[in-house]
Amino acid sequence: MQVSRAACAFVLMERTMLPFIVASVFVAASGAGWLLLFPPKRKPNPRQRRMLLAAAATGLLAAAPPLLVRLLRPRQMVPAFDDKVHIEDPQIAALLQGEQLAPPPPLPPLAFSAAEVELQRPMLAQADRDWQRLDKDFAQRLLAVFNVMRERHGYEMALLEGYRSPERQDRLAAAGSHVSNARAFQSFHQYGLAADCAFIRDGKLVISERDPWAMRGYQLYGEAAESVGMVWGGRWSMMDFGHTELRARDTRA
Ligand SMILES: [Zn+2]
Repeated sequence: MQVSRAACAFVLMERTMLPFIVASVFVAASGAGWLLLFPPKRKPNPRQRRMLLAAAATGLLAAAPPLLVRLLRPRQMVPAFDDKVHIEDPQIAALLQGEQLAPPPPLPPLAFSAAEVELQRPMLAQADRDWQRLDKDFAQRLLAVFNVMRERHGYEMALLEGYRSPERQDRLAAAGSHVSNARAFQSFHQYGLAADCAFIRDGKLVISERDPWAMRGYQLYGEAAESVGMVWGGRWSMMDFGHTELRARDTRA
């Protein structure tokens, strides 16, 4: 998503000014209504005329900038700013506009309790991997990422954990900072807006930061995720390569 700072400032200014437009229109309308209902018995004296003129001028001055911004704004920039990501990649855009993407078939539960998996990712066996419990929009974006990873880069991906209950989040935090830094409701997992993913090679889960093939995969996965407006944990100071979430806020995996 590429939105220039100027465009953001532009839209922000417009949003902040909107109440002023509404207020001035309201004041002008009620003033006119009052004059219609109770016409002044005698003409206003010069002092009253000056006050009326000053009030009208103030209203105009308040309403002019936001009106100008509204008229002059570059239209294509607003959707990109307004939570709807402008997707440049035609393949991803087509995927997101087409039919609902279906989740891949689940891996057998044993795949998540293998010794090497447990070593990399403790307490994974009990994790929730139900795509239905994820936010719909987030799930679709993540499935588009899976699709691109498979079709374009040859990586098969698997969901390790999606929704996470607040109780489980606290249990993970209690296990230590190498497992999670976030307590209950401090992670997007509790809102169905985050997922941890890994790769499948020869039918086995690969969760590794030492495997060059996996590291290349994480990089591509991060790029694809960011191209659909998600935040990738690989960019955090506490790097979490398999983690993606929708919407940026100050929470950690
Ligand atoms: Zn996570």
